[in-house]
Amino acid sequence: MIRINENYRKLASSYLFSEIAKRVAAFQAGHPDRSVIRLGIGDVTRPLTPSVVKAFREAVDEMGRPETFKGYGPDLGYDFLRQAIAEVDFRSRGAEVAADEIFISDGSKCDTGAIQELFAQDLRIAIPDPVYPVYVDTNVMAGRTGPFREGRYAGLIYLDCTEDNGFVPDPPRTRVDLVYLCFPNNPTGAAITRAQLGAWVEYARQSRALILYDAAYESYIRDPSLPHSIYEVPGAREAAIEFRSFSKTAGFTGTRCAYTVVPKGCVAWDAEGGAHALHGLWARRMATRFNGVSYPVQRAAAAVYTPEGQHEARGLSDYYLGNANVIRERLAGLGWSVTGGDNSPYLWVRTGTDSWKFFDTLLDRANVVCTPGSGFGRCGEGYVRISAFNDRAKVEDAMDRFAAADAELKSLADG
Ligand SMILES: *Cc1c(COP(=O)(O)O)cnc(C)c1O
Repeated sequence: MIRINENYRKLASSYLFSEIAKRVAAFQAGHPDRSVIRLGIGDVTRPLTPSVVKAFREAVDEMGRPETFKGYGPDLGYDFLRQAIAEVDFRSRGAEVAADEIFISDGSKCDTGAIQELFAQDLRIAIPDPVYPVYVDTNVMAGRTGPFREGRYAGLIYLDCTEDNGFVPDPPRTRVDLVYLCFPNNPTGAAITRAQLGAWVEYARQSRALILYDAAYESYIRDPSLPHSIYEVPGAREAAIEFRSFSKTAGFTGTRCAYTVVPKGCVAWDAEGGAHALHGLWARRMATRFNGVSYPVQRAAAAVYTPEGQHEARGLSDYYLGNANVIRERLAGLGWSVTGGDNSPYLWVRTGTDSWKFFDTLLDRANVVCTPGSGFGRCGEGYVRISAFNDRAKVEDAMDRFAAADAELKSLADG
C-alpha cells in the first residue's frame, strides 16, 4: 500500500497565496464589473530590460546553430556568470567571495527550501515571525517539527519581529543550530544594520551555528550604511550561506535564475565531531538533483552585470521604490502606521484589526488586494503587507480607492 509522508499532514493550511487567489476569484465572480488592483503577491510587473533580452535572444540563436549548440551545462553554473557575480555583487563591495563558491540555480525558493536537506534531523532551528513561509514549511515537510498549535509549530524557536525591535530580532538567549534571516525583509520591509548583522554573525560563530541569509531584496537597499551581503561582515564566511535571486533584482520571476553562495570555510559537524565543508555537500546535492539553468537564461542573467545591465536593473528597483514612496506617503498622510518601503519593495501596515478582516474589507470596498500579515506568522496578526510591484498608475489608483474606503477601514479597528 502506498502511503504518504505523514509530515505533510502537519502543514497548517493551504499556501497563503492560494487562499488569497481563492478569495480574489470569489470576489471577481460576484463582481465581474469591478477591476481589482493587486498589491498582494510579490511578483514583478516590469518587463525584462533591453540588454537582458538581447543577450537572451542571442543565446537562443546560438542554441539553434550546430557550431554553437550546447547540451548539458556545468552542474553548478557557467563560469562566465559565476565570475561576473563574484566580481560585481561581492568583490566590488569588499566582500570576499570566489566564483567557485557560487552555485547557479533556478530560484531562491528552491534553494532556501532545499538547503535543509544537508542538516541533521534534530536541529534547534530559529525562524523569524513573521516570515517567508518556505523556510518553515520545508522543515515541517522534512519532519523537523511537531504539530501546529495556536499559530506555531512545536519544536521551532520563533524570533518575534515586532514594533519594539523594529522588526529585526536579536540573537536568542538559548542556543540554536540553524537560523533563517531575510533582509531587506519579506514581509515587513525592515532592513538590518551592519551592527545588528554583526551581532548575529558573532552569535553564530560562538555557538557553531549556521545562518541562512536570504538577500533576495538586496538591490532595493538605498541607505549607504546598510550591508548588501552578509559577507560584508567579518567572520561571516565561516558562519553563513547567502541566497540571491534575479527575480526581484532584474525581473526574472518568470525567467528563473538565482544563486546560492556557500563559502569554502562553512562547515557542519557529524555525530563524531568531524567537520564537513558545506560547499562539498551542496555541490553533491546539486549534482545529484539538478541539471543546471538553461544556457540562454544564464546568458540573460550575465547581461545584468554589464554596465548597461546594471543601469537598467537600477531603473527597475528605482521604479518600484518610487511606487513604495507613493504608498507610504499616502497611507501615512491618512494616519496609518506604515514601515518599510524605503530599502524594500514591501510596506507593512498596522491594521488595528484582524489581518484577514482588513484584507476582506479592502478587497470588498476598495477592490485592492493586499496580503494578510497573519499568513506570515503569529506576529504578523494585526498587519498587512502592501507590495510596490505594480504600475505607477495602478498604485496611484489603489491609493485613491484606499482613501475613499479609509473611514470604513478605520472603523474596523473600533468595532
Ligand atoms: C521572491 C523571493 C525570493 C526569490 O525567489 P525565486 O524562487 O528566486 O523567484 C526569495 N526569497 C524571498 C523572501 C522572496 O520574497
